[in-house]
Amino acid sequence: ERREAIRSWTGPAQLASGERVQLLANVADGAAARKAAPTAAEGVGLFRTELGFLSAQSEPTAEEQGALYREVLDAFPGKKVVIRTLDAGSDKPVPFVKHEHEENPALGVRGVRLSFARDGLLARQLDGIAAARDSQEGEKSEVWVMAPMIATIDEARRFAEETRARDLKAGIMVEVPSVALLADAFLREVDFMSIGTNDLTQYTMAADRLAADLAHLTNPWQPAVLHLVARTAEAGVAAGKPVGVCGEAAADPLLACVLVGMGITSLSMAGGAISAVGAQLGQVKKAQCEDAAVAALAATTAETARQVALEMVTT
Ligand code: PEP
Ligand code: MG
Repeated sequence: ERREAIRSWTGPAQLASGERVQLLANVADGAAARKAAPTAAEGVGLFRTELGFLSAQSEPTAEEQGALYREVLDAFPGKKVVIRTLDAGSDKPVPFVKHEHEENPALGVRGVRLSFARDGLLARQLDGIAAARDSQEGEKSEVWVMAPMIATIDEARRFAEETRARDLKAGIMVEVPSVALLADAFLREVDFMSIGTNDLTQYTMAADRLAADLAHLTNPWQPAVLHLVARTAEAGVAAGKPVGVCGEAAADPLLACVLVGMGITSLSMAGGAISAVGAQLGQVKKAQCEDAAVAALAATTAETARQVALEMVTT
């Protein structure tokens, strides 16, 4: 019965009590975007630009980058497309921005730190994004740009300034606990936030996201992670600015209910997960999501958090 509900679900996502929830796709390139476009995805919530450069030996020019980005925009005319600037380093080594050997690459010069460290790298990428938008024929996409691995207010301010100089909406990912803890202050600097639960969990639990034997720790149901997410979502509601989730957590139908109950406004996931999440959201009322969030936040283990959330959405 559940499988049939998922198969017949068409979107857009709506809670049983009527509230809309924006479901978006995570994509790596134009081909993935064209594949996601005919699904119920209302746009792109995470375009991982570095995945197009994993084998590039030299940096593509702004013009070459623009052509790649435009493919993704053209798959979603008139729709929201959130482009993430280069998240190179650590688990995503990009040859042309290879950094010197690091003992702890996950804690090293990666993400926006690397974009800032290389002269003009961020500027050229933002130029490529602006060029893609400007060259779009017909209906233009709504382009939002965000930086990965932001840790300080100064970084957020610098990123927002360079991004807005090109008339682009500027946001940051919440992947480092320092940002979740000061979410209200960060929100004064940017237009939106997107929580990357994969890295936020890794850095909160001090557990390598690639280590299979640490799966009990790299679990977004860990109550400490849920508290950081809730704090960020609440800051977004208070500021009246969008706060989404684009990590794996968004693709877990039950956790999606909890996230919506916390005040998260959009969920971005692999295209294949959208109908399962959409079908689940259609079964629950907003009040149940809020109860599930409160119950999960009162739990002290990942297992009980999941269990109490399940009870709230099935009663
Ligand atoms: C995340 O960290 O949750 C995220 C969405 O980014 P990535 O998985 O690309 O690091
Ligand atoms: Mg990440």
